Amino acid sequence: MFKSKSNVWVLCDFDGTASVRDVQNMLLDHFLGPGWRKEVQSALVEGKKSSVYMPRIYAGWSATREEMIRVIDEKAELDPYLVDFVKYCRKRRYHLEIVSDGLDIYINHLLGKHQLDFIPYTSNRLVFTDGKARLESPFRSDFCGLCGNCKKQRVLAAREANAQCVVYIGDGISDECPAAISDIVFAKNHLLAYCQEHDLAAIPFEDFSQVIQAFPKALEKYQTTQNRIVRG
Ligand SMILES: [Mg+2]
Ligand SMILES: [Zn+2]
Repeated sequence: MFKSKSNVWVLCDFDGTASVRDVQNMLLDHFLGPGWRKEVQSALVEGKKSSVYMPRIYAGWSATREEMIRVIDEKAELDPYLVDFVKYCRKRRYHLEIVSDGLDIYINHLLGKHQLDFIPYTSNRLVFTDGKARLESPFRSDFCGLCGNCKKQRVLAAREANAQCVVYIGDGISDECPAAISDIVFAKNHLLAYCQEHDLAAIPFEDFSQVIQAFPKALEKYQTTQNRIVRG
């Protein structure tokens, strides 16, 4: 087994992965109607990603924090087995963090609601001042130049911290960058299709009960491969 189990890093997407539905999309649909999707589509067609379409979508955002929280409470929920998975990771001292190209407002709120606010996360932010909201992407980087929060940075942070294994769990476009350079990938929906198209190994999952079930074997298999590489 790994010398120190805390050297396993688990990076987990939020929207549609830690949460059942994509909370950001749900909020955009609720407050803007479906028109925002055109902005996303036209950016993607041009080979661009969220660093281009997110500022456009949130320009002139008028919903208040309170209005947003109300809709989040009404419509958003976490994966029913996420709490179990967090316990699973804590028990084994795996480093777990959330990496999101969504917004701090609902990640903060939903984690807090389930007493999971000890989990570190990176995301974009909505900053409310004088009745107006402003989007900030403090984790934007030149790594890929495409994502609002390029999650690749956190995989590289894990490598810098000498992680022996980086596990990535996700479902969407913003998970492409980190999944491509992680050691074990759990994928659903868009990310699963992306991995299959690009010959990246990925373990399919629907909810976190399946992640918990498949996790030990996946780790064991990865370690066996690593030993083989070391022995030549
Ligand atoms: Mg997602
Ligand atoms: Zn990226």
